[in-house]
Amino acid sequence: MMQVDQTVYTTLKERLKEIFGYNQFRGDQEAIIHSILSGYNTFVIMPTGAGKSLCYQLPAIVSEGTAVVISPLIALMKNQVDQLNAFGINAQFLNSTLSKTEMNRVKRDTLNGTLKLLYIAPESLTKEENLDFLKKANISFVAIDEAHCISEWGHDFRPEYRKIRGIVDNIGNLPVIALTATATPKVQQDIQKNLQMEDAHLYKTSFNRKNLYYEIKPKVDAKKQLIKYVKQHKGKSGIIYCLSRKTVEEIAELLSVNDVKALPYHAGLDPQTRMHNQDAFLNEDVDVVCATIAFGMGIDKPDVRFVIHYDAPKSLEGYYQETGRAGRDGLEGNCVMFYSYDDIQKLEKFNKDKSVTERDNAKHLLGEMVSYANLGVCRRRQLLGYFGEYMEKDCGFCDNCVKPAPTFKVQNEVVLALQTVLQTDQRFDVTHLSDVLTATSNQYVTSYEHNRLDVYGKGREFNETAEFWCSLIKQITIYGYLEKDVDNYGILKLTQRGMNYIEDPYPLTLHKNHDYDHLPTDEDED
Ligand code: ADP
Ligand code: ZN
Repeated sequence: MMQVDQTVYTTLKERLKEIFGYNQFRGDQEAIIHSILSGYNTFVIMPTGAGKSLCYQLPAIVSEGTAVVISPLIALMKNQVDQLNAFGINAQFLNSTLSKTEMNRVKRDTLNGTLKLLYIAPESLTKEENLDFLKKANISFVAIDEAHCISEWGHDFRPEYRKIRGIVDNIGNLPVIALTATATPKVQQDIQKNLQMEDAHLYKTSFNRKNLYYEIKPKVDAKKQLIKYVKQHKGKSGIIYCLSRKTVEEIAELLSVNDVKALPYHAGLDPQTRMHNQDAFLNEDVDVVCATIAFGMGIDKPDVRFVIHYDAPKSLEGYYQETGRAGRDGLEGNCVMFYSYDDIQKLEKFNKDKSVTERDNAKHLLGEMVSYANLGVCRRRQLLGYFGEYMEKDCGFCDNCVKPAPTFKVQNEVVLALQTVLQTDQRFDVTHLSDVLTATSNQYVTSYEHNRLDVYGKGREFNETAEFWCSLIKQITIYGYLEKDVDNYGILKLTQRGMNYIEDPYPLTLHKNHDYDHLPTDEDED
């Protein structure tokens, strides 16, 4: 069990200054550090750049023994180890790249208690020999970084992460601090269940990035639009994300011949070139880097002024992470996505070879992305809603707020949709609900005998299509009349607001969906 000298609590701030050079804790950092030092399981959900690392680094340093930090990527571990070593802290990582001598030094320092942080990938943790030595060591606590990797419902599931609980129990009775920058309510619950830390002290901060402007443009004449956009932002730092290495190369080339200082970055380049291109961007020898999502992990350039998704991302988690690299300094940050249904079909094709579970999950994630693009609702409300944060009002600082899509008024339609949710016992998703409303008879509808419900086919009386009902249901979910069931993906239930609405309805204004494949671009005018 963890041993902590009581005076530690009062001197934390001094140690923060002395070791890291910071004058103040940020946000919940101090409370989080107290929580883990007091031996509580602790769960931290904070956006990238909020300062999660410090939440386990500082307690590791002030505790007796060694903290085990589980991290999925060697590059991330190495970054942190180098940084801590530069601060004079003994931190090391354990993985298969180490020589026998290095390995022995790590083990010796752990066993004699001089090592403060031991970074390890879950794969190495499962190895018998590593486990045996950890059992003999004095371990202060276990930190699980990028904890969303535990959840199959997230966007980068790593099966070995699901073994962590068993291994930790094997090492001893240790407090666990789990940290992640992305967790929808479902993923959050999955992590807590799997780590058996439903009782954990939870610290979740807002995901709202107020200085980021979100915008989606139809992917028509996208290259022309892109060049124009980058030229309008001449001299500013930007990242352009593309799906394939080939497109990365192509776009970097295209920008270069158009007098934009741009370089490519993707995993297919040799390490020297990658390093060189990354440094060129960080040192501002070039303005723009065209990259696959391999670029950005651990990149901390505060003045990136725009992030462009030339191709649509696979999930809103990815989109949030990638756009999050803009405006880290709190100043201007523009997030532009080029969107076309063709791109979505391409992404769907990639999913074909996956296992059933993986494919279903990928489909859900992509479906959420498609809704985000198509709905005329404030982007920020959608994005934050996705991560379980409810916003009462539109943000006024996204394309859907600034250039609103055409609106329409509804009231009886909303009552009908809410009644459909009730009559189907609050156990179905948007597609099924719209099938019932439009009397689309399929095996699900008939097997649940929903074709015998009072609401069956009632949606047709309004002369409206399935698309209309899907859009309406999604919009009233964002506006808080319905909510997603945390246990069952996609299933909708009434909220108190929804209940009240049925009793006492009033006119609501909703937005028409975008139609990106048929819209003229605003660039066409010149
Ligand atoms: P995260 O892991 O949440 O993405 P990091 O731990 O990498 O974030 O921290 C982001 C940046 O904030 C780093 O440059 C870090 O040194 C800095 N930072 C963390 N805590 C503080 C603090 N209390 N005061 C000032 N800077 C901090
Ligand atoms: Zn908005």
